[in-house]
Amino acid sequence: MEFLRTHKVEKISIAVAVVAIVGGTAYYFCVTKKSKGASCLDPENFKPFKLVKRTQISHNVAKFRFSLPTPDSVLGLPIGQHISCRGKDSLGEEVIKPYTPTTLDTDLGYFELVIKMYPEGRMSHHFKELQEGYYLAVKGPKGRFKYQPNEVRAFGMIAGGTGITPMFQVTRAILENPQDKTNIHLIYANVTYDDILLKEELDNFAQKFPSRFRVYYVLNQPPEEWDGGVGFVSKEMIQTHCPAPSPDIKILRCGPPPMNKAMAAHLDALGYSSQMLFQF
Ligand SMILES: Cc1cc2nc3c(=O)[nH]c(=O)nc-3n(C[C@H](O)[C@H](O)[C@H](O)COP(=O)(O)OP(=O)(O)OC[C@H]3O[C@@H](n4cnc5c(N)ncnc54)[C@H](O)[C@@H]3O)c2cc1C
Repeated sequence: MEFLRTHKVEKISIAVAVVAIVGGTAYYFCVTKKSKGASCLDPENFKPFKLVKRTQISHNVAKFRFSLPTPDSVLGLPIGQHISCRGKDSLGEEVIKPYTPTTLDTDLGYFELVIKMYPEGRMSHHFKELQEGYYLAVKGPKGRFKYQPNEVRAFGMIAGGTGITPMFQVTRAILENPQDKTNIHLIYANVTYDDILLKEELDNFAQKFPSRFRVYYVLNQPPEEWDGGVGFVSKEMIQTHCPAPSPDIKILRCGPPPMNKAMAAHLDALGYSSQMLFQF
């Protein structure tokens, strides 16, 4: 009898211990998950972020990885928005420019920028000098575009050079969200083949999501063998490779100012209303 009572007490003790462990674990995950949601950005003040890895991609393009305060931290940048980066040009004067990370808030503990450094560029000079262990001053989020899943049936995207990074961010968010059914039609223009940024990633999207994501590359100086577009992005290219004007589509564009101006004229001539257009 005494043996049975001891055995019962033991069983209850084990059950209490199991409940305590399961409850504690659930609470821990609940708390840490909550802390992941906190943004590391301040819209009013520049905050320093440490450069932990710099990877040269081509002679004038590099990928910069910056660490966040903890391995679980998120940058806290809404899809469609960008950050302001502050640096010094070659004369030591302050310069502030917008950049869109190629990482999302699903990437914990760091964010990455893909930067093209122009020979005469003011902020380019700052990035050229930025070494691992140095800090970059960043403020944000910035921007008027706030993406909502399924807000349109399809996005047309017209990007030139480094203007691909905002498109890449929105594309990644759409394709990585199984609830989002938006289709994407991207026209991506560059001078030479080697100037095309994030090509491997874009081609992977096209291969993985053939009915959802299409990319049409346009080169001003194409190589001998080339099956993409040639010259500048034309009205005909937009007609062929972007969704036609309709209230449930939007055309996003980001590129150098002369290209943005030319695209605005083409889109207007093709009958897109201002509600169907957004320029980053
Ligand atoms: C929303 C948004 C997001 C952006 N994200 C990125 C990003 O992720 N990565 C990135 O590298 N850039 C990005 N840019 C561009 C970036 O903001 C700067 O314009 C770019 O880094 C050049 O700045 P700079 O001070 O070095 O050049 P500047 O001193 O402004 O220009 C000097 C010279 O550089 C050349 N140049 C400058 N910009 C361009 C251009 N776009 N195309 C062709 N030639 C140019 C020209 O010859 C120009 O005369 C983004 C821009 C916007 C609006």
